[in-house]
Amino acid sequence: MIESVLPTYARIPLSFERGEGSWLIATDGQRFLDLGSGVAVNALGHAHPELVKALTDQAQALWHTSNVYEIPQQKMLADKFVDATFADTVFFTNSGTEACELAVKMARKYFFDQGQPERVEIITFSGAFHGRSSAAIAASASEKMIKGFGPLLPGFRNLAWGDFELLKSSLDDRTAAILVEPIQGEGGINPLPDQYLKGMRQLCDKHGALLILDEVQCGMGRTGRLFAHEWVGVLPDIMMVAKGIGCGFPLGAVLATETAASGMTAGTHGSTYGGNPLACAVGNKVFDLIANNNFLSDVNRKAGYFRQRLEALIARHSAVFESVRGMGLMLGIKCAIKNVDVVNAGIEHQIATLLASDNVIRILPPLNISGDEIDEAISRLDAAAVSLS
Ligand SMILES: *Cc1c(COP(=O)(O)O)cnc(C)c1O
Repeated sequence: MIESVLPTYARIPLSFERGEGSWLIATDGQRFLDLGSGVAVNALGHAHPELVKALTDQAQALWHTSNVYEIPQQKMLADKFVDATFADTVFFTNSGTEACELAVKMARKYFFDQGQPERVEIITFSGAFHGRSSAAIAASASEKMIKGFGPLLPGFRNLAWGDFELLKSSLDDRTAAILVEPIQGEGGINPLPDQYLKGMRQLCDKHGALLILDEVQCGMGRTGRLFAHEWVGVLPDIMMVAKGIGCGFPLGAVLATETAASGMTAGTHGSTYGGNPLACAVGNKVFDLIANNNFLSDVNRKAGYFRQRLEALIARHSAVFESVRGMGLMLGIKCAIKNVDVVNAGIEHQIATLLASDNVIRILPPLNISGDEIDEAISRLDAAAVSLS
């Protein structure tokens, strides 16, 4: 008999009743160190007092009005993103998937309005993850995500990750955009080499195509800059964000230049909940806490320390771990044994990590994890590795 909850997840049989900073407290009282952060979502840990206050204050005042009316909290948050990034304008969604939908629609509408309605093709890459809607699975083209789900949304071309020559020869007068994660998350923590991102920008400029960055996982301070592309100095035309921007309250966004967004006039897109007062009250507080040099340099310092300790851990346990990769606090450890066994051994030692493709485990701790908690993480991973070897 089918479970009452649709069984689309291979869940770990464990549930939590409370969170405190970097810790999750299970229903049986066990305390787990959380290196997954709800998949890069709880960027400020669990039950951050200022976020709790922002949410509960707003909850006492007004939850929802719909986008029929102006939402001052939304405008305030949009202004902050516009001031801090390449973007001139922001649309708020509830998720990364919805951000993908709009990014694709926006790019196509731009060319339609330019009198080039045939320019609909979006170039994407193997190993990509952009969400689970019909557009987002067509973008990823992974068999697991698309098989059995009928005709795919047309107009996507999925190329091998890292094959720049192939990319170069693939742009043509039907190309609307390149859509890429600066660091693939689900795909196994694969950073795009700086030169590739620069090259993509140049190719887009040469062909008049748009560059769409998916920073749903790598954005909002995760790499030690507000957005990952800032490390390279390459600017997108459109960017998808979500996950960390709401720290657990569902919130996503599409950021865009005025030019790229020029086709999105009144009535062309919408969302009932997107950017509602509750979400934006949290989003504003998250932004204020993360988007400043003090916080981000702290992330960089901790990331350097964590990585150095992980390198040493890997050297001690070469039968279990192969190598570490990633940027900032978006780290992946390539495993020498099955990654699922490593995650499960972690659970036995009260430390939560995440699976990714390419036999990687992901380490995506809260960005405000303390140095002592990093030490504790290393000793728990050490114990888990000992139990495996
Ligand atoms: C999680 C993720 C998405 C999808 O976001 P949802 O909020 O799950 O819809 C899209 N792109 C990337 C890179 C992601 O990591």
